[in-house]
Amino acid sequence: MALIVKKFGGSSVADAKKVFNVANLIVEDYKKGNDVIVVVSAQGDTTDDLIAKAKEINPKNPSKREMDMLLSAGEQISISLLAMAIETMGCPVISLLGWQAGFNTDSHHTIARIKNINGERLKSEIEKKKIVIVAGFQGLNKYDDVTTLGRGGSDTSAVAIAAALKADLCQIYTDVDGVYTADPRKVSTAQKMDEICYDEMLELATLGAQVLNNRSVEMAKKYNVELEVRSSLEPHKSGTIVKEIVKMEKTLIKGVAKDNNVASISIVELQDKPGIAFKIFNKLAQAKINVDIILQSIGRNNTKDITFTVSQDNREAAVAVIENLKDSLAFREVTFDENVSKVSIVGAGMESNPGVAAKMFEALSDAGINIRMISTSEIKVSVLIDEKFADAAVIAVHDKFVN
Ligand code: ADP
Ligand code: ASP
Ligand code: MG
Repeated sequence: MALIVKKFGGSSVADAKKVFNVANLIVEDYKKGNDVIVVVSAQGDTTDDLIAKAKEINPKNPSKREMDMLLSAGEQISISLLAMAIETMGCPVISLLGWQAGFNTDSHHTIARIKNINGERLKSEIEKKKIVIVAGFQGLNKYDDVTTLGRGGSDTSAVAIAAALKADLCQIYTDVDGVYTADPRKVSTAQKMDEICYDEMLELATLGAQVLNNRSVEMAKKYNVELEVRSSLEPHKSGTIVKEIVKMEKTLIKGVAKDNNVASISIVELQDKPGIAFKIFNKLAQAKINVDIILQSIGRNNTKDITFTVSQDNREAAVAVIENLKDSLAFREVTFDENVSKVSIVGAGMESNPGVAAKMFEALSDAGINIRMISTSEIKVSVLIDEKFADAAVIAVHDKFVN
């Protein structure tokens, strides 16, 4: 007998038929004598639909507290429907909202972090031999207000339960049968990996491979929770294991990822003197804006340009921060571009293999794609390119390395 945490994403519970399909999988494990805790996301596009509803009422700035109140409703629907499906199959079951399941978070509404899980309720329901269905993506802050964990956050909810209750298995079921070398919906030659290590998975997830939420991988690594990514539609097919150490493979890179949620911001003709970069990036940090790639031009006539990227959600706020510095910094203008995309390769093997970046640039050059910015770390190379070439770039780079 094992304690199994199973997480089902929105596409896996999108309609009644899929809810019953998932219910069957859960009951199958339960009837084998296992304890089963299930985490679910909102059905299909429910979260996007709720965001659209908020925009109908307040297109500019609904408070983040109320956004959390609204968005958490999506998961309340899916947990109760799934529990009802399991009831029809004659098994004891209970659905719990995030706060009932003991999820305590910080107060950063819409991007809250889990502080701890009080597992008492979960444990007591399991002891009563109930299947427990938990609403993913949500928790409660110290003021008893509902919070959400950021888009894709249900993966993190599942890993957090697996870590807190020391589960034997943490299975993430989705609409593809594992982690691939690129998004299998975009790249037909993408290959499924049997296993991938936390660090590589974390980079892929952070750089746009949405199959796992990056915070969930971070947490899995921290608490050593082994993850299995599997298909809810082909549940008996083996998936991809995400763990600390994986067997050595010949491939130089593990995968290619794309992120369209990027904007570049340029500050033109800044004074070329010490302290300028500090002032800019310190103000952005104070405004809690994450900056990704930074490029500074060579100084000319005592001026230089600085270009950096942020996520599109932060673009407006970042431009406002820079505009506010105009008097003290005396630059000519600030411009931005949202029609950009970041394409990245990831692989621990590149650290000891020179020429990986050059090979990526060659693939892009052969495809006639211009590179605007570059950033590298030990295990990844990212380029910023025009968004319209992003899919072609992923295919070109993937072909160069994987096939
Ligand atoms: P869920 O609703 O189950 O959370 P998501 O839509 O968040 O599912 O994530 C699954 C999707 O991730 C897949 O449909 C696939 O298109 C996409 N994806 C992107 N990159 C990858 C990759 N490298 N491997 C597998 N899937 C990927
Ligand atoms: N329903 C939330 C979202 O769409 C959480 C999740 O899917 O993990 O982002
Ligand atoms: Mg997801």
